[in-house]
Amino acid sequence: MHEFIVKTSSRNEFVDITDRVRALVQESEVEAGLCTVYCPHTTAAITINENADPDVTEDILRKLSTLIPTRENYRHIEGNSDAHIKSSLVGNSAQIIIHNGSLRLGTWQGVYFCEFDGPRTRKVWVSLIKTDR
Ligand code: ZN
Repeated sequence: MHEFIVKTSSRNEFVDITDRVRALVQESEVEAGLCTVYCPHTTAAITINENADPDVTEDILRKLSTLIPTRENYRHIEGNSDAHIKSSLVGNSAQIIIHNGSLRLGTWQGVYFCEFDGPRTRKVWVSLIKTDR
């Protein structure tokens, strides 16, 4: 398993981690397999979406914040229930195919670490599994 650190700078933020995941795959020399990118936090998430137009991730963040307000009649005493809910909705991992030694992402796809309770210093875990082809 590999681990790297992501430092976030806002309460809600998408950080493009595609290059960092790509680098781990290339260093590993896995030719064919599966790459799991995992977020070990309850107020953050991992997703794959467009990385060509930054307005896309901005729109996702805005819509999530409209659907899940920061302040509501939440019970959780820590005061960050919105972040926990966003984390569960977006999900804590993504799996990407490794083909010919590199990540097989669509043309417009990037891998994002999604911060919902920042700024914080976060961890990302990456596991690579070799397959036949
Ligand atoms: Zn909490």
